[in-house]
Amino acid sequence: MRITDVRGHALSSPIEPPQTRDFHGGKRRLLKRDVVLVVVETADGEVGFAPAGASSSAMREYFEGDSQATFADLVEGPIADALEGETVDAVTDAHDLIDATDLPERARHEAASAIDVALYDLRGKRAGAPIYELLCEEYGTEPDTRLPMYASAGMYMDPEGYAEQARIIDELGFFGYKYRPGIGPEGDLETIDRLVDAVDRTEIMLDSHTWWKLEGGAYGPETTADIVEYAGEKGAYWVEEPVAPDDYDGYVELSELGVPLAGGESEESPAGLLELGRTGAVDFLQGDVRHHRGYTGCAEAIEFCRGRGVEFVPHNFGTWLGLIANAHLVAAAPEVDLLEYPVFEDDPALDSEEDPGMYPFDLAFDVIEETVDVDDGKLSVPDGPGLGVTVDLDVIEEYPPTEGAWTEFIYD
Ligand SMILES: [Mg+2]
Repeated sequence: MRITDVRGHALSSPIEPPQTRDFHGGKRRLLKRDVVLVVVETADGEVGFAPAGASSSAMREYFEGDSQATFADLVEGPIADALEGETVDAVTDAHDLIDATDLPERARHEAASAIDVALYDLRGKRAGAPIYELLCEEYGTEPDTRLPMYASAGMYMDPEGYAEQARIIDELGFFGYKYRPGIGPEGDLETIDRLVDAVDRTEIMLDSHTWWKLEGGAYGPETTADIVEYAGEKGAYWVEEPVAPDDYDGYVELSELGVPLAGGESEESPAGLLELGRTGAVDFLQGDVRHHRGYTGCAEAIEFCRGRGVEFVPHNFGTWLGLIANAHLVAAAPEVDLLEYPVFEDDPALDSEEDPGMYPFDLAFDVIEETVDVDDGKLSVPDGPGLGVTVDLDVIEEYPPTEGAWTEFIYD
């Protein structure tokens, strides 16, 4: 197919009024969520879409000064220059064109991720087949299109607040409840106890990036190990990113406690995912089609996991477009079964009187015209051509990008 147009739209979804959460050592302000929508058009007038972002680690842009708008500019500048007018026979041809640019490595990986997903969307639309069918052909698998999901919520709350959310998630039938601790060692330990009491069948996961991202490394290795060990004793399904992503020694040391660990979302490339996997420290490897060079890049990590006792569970945090993009991978990939479902306020897909949402992120739902099909904690993957959903281009007008970081930390 001949690529004629590549666009990147930076969008901001305001959190109004802004929220303030207490954590160990300070307060955190939540102001908005930013995303990028990538649109690729071909000479025959077909359009492919992809969710994208500036970095795999949601807070990296806060620390390094990048922004989603910077990434959108990069897509419309050097990436569009590299692709427009080119004919790509295979999706990997587009990867080669992006890698031939002189962009920094991380930017190339991020761009290749979005372009890969958009080209798979286009391939599916041309073939009249959902992406998962294309992937099943590549993997030699049969599709499984009703996917168990774990709910991703809980961010700096009091222990009762986490427990309340977990109870609702349990009633909704989700496989697991993942939350972000970081309210202080005592509070984090109490939260584990309360969660165990609150849920009936739902697994508990800790997403502990909140421990090492804070000023001064927050808890330190001994306290971190104590909490990880306690979580393990109480049956936590996994502890995610308990130490900084590049602290492989720290991962290995913690893994000796025998508590299942998860990680990978902060790796910059598929090669990084493999490197983390090779440490032998993680039981769950969290690649993401939006950050690890799309379906093409994630295939390397999935292949690595097979037969090694490591389970690939996609990282997925953002809009429903990102959810659906990762869902096609889970539906097709061998030995990949579980999907992450971020829960935001007023989620129209959840059948509950009570609201287990983290904070408002209306763009997450509005980016596609459909309501995703969630029943008993499972997602039915759309079976229409490509991604199988209709992107609502009105969001470009309705969610204009706003300046500044999405979140702020105010230390005591
Ligand atoms: Mg995480």
